[in-house]
Amino acid sequence: MSDQAIRKIGIIGAGQMGNGIAHVTAAAGFDVKLHDVAEERINAALATIDGNMARQVAKGALSDEERRSAMARIAPAVGLADLGDCDLVIEAATESEEVKRKIFTAVCPHLKPKAILASNTSSISITRLAAATDRPEHFIGIHFMNPVPLMQLVELIRGIATDDGTFELAKDFVAKLHKTASVSEDFPAFIVNRILLPMINEAVYTLYEGVGSVEAIDTAMRLGANHPMGPLQLADFIGLDTCLSVMQVLHDGLADSKYRPCPLLVKYVEAGWLGRKTKRGFYDYRGEKPVPTR
Ligand code: NAD
Repeated sequence: MSDQAIRKIGIIGAGQMGNGIAHVTAAAGFDVKLHDVAEERINAALATIDGNMARQVAKGALSDEERRSAMARIAPAVGLADLGDCDLVIEAATESEEVKRKIFTAVCPHLKPKAILASNTSSISITRLAAATDRPEHFIGIHFMNPVPLMQLVELIRGIATDDGTFELAKDFVAKLHKTASVSEDFPAFIVNRILLPMINEAVYTLYEGVGSVEAIDTAMRLGANHPMGPLQLADFIGLDTCLSVMQVLHDGLADSKYRPCPLLVKYVEAGWLGRKTKRGFYDYRGEKPVPTR
């Protein structure tokens, strides 16, 4: 165990995940510094967090006083040097190994020697990312689920060099967010996506082979397996490009044909039908109600 305390959190990447992580850390009482390569993304994230917290206030999950003090704990960090006083820095930038490596090379010289560095990557090897830093023993995967304020789970992934003190501090941090940690070894796509994405890919094969329509497959899994969302509806929510990239990581990383991405999934991605974010995927979201596209 380490005698180190985590008080100030730096977040790199103010997109969908970065703003969610800033939201829950500030609401739990940590001081937060939020950085993005694009300054307007930081401002957009602050507006999103404020809006999401206001919704929690309306539902009675947060008081307005708590919302105001949480918002006051989040400061924009325009440069990476602004993260120099953070105890834990969580990288939540674009899912690209090259982008992440460049960020680590640039941020490490500014960090306190004992600061912990974490990545929110959904699929890239933690051991390989750690090797791009000056502190592999203080590097760990802290994988939040989307949407962060609503999802209970956080996966913790140790790289080969991650030391016990770093792991214990990360576990303690997750508990302070009132979330539950699940520990995964550093293998492609970790636990949740290793199990979830092959199921989604199989649902796409079921559609591709004509076993059922979009509606039949989603109804079957909602009512027959008690899933809150059908697998094709869920794929649209995650983003079909993300689903395909996780399948490719599994296929490349484990070299097993059972992870072969379904050609129909590839076709949707090639068409730019990426799900909700582009208004079309397995459903068409351009009208009042989602309409199946097959
Ligand atoms: P996003 O596209 O919404 O946000 C990424 C942000 O990173 C953007 O604001 C972008 O400007 C910023 N960025 C890019 N390069 C940067 C750099 N060099 N320095 C600083 N910021 C930079 O993506 P997201 O969905 O928030 O995903 C972020 C990370 O979280 C990825 O690693 C992704 O795999 C992981 N993740 C995503 C989900 C999900 O469901 N979306 C779930 C769990 C984990």
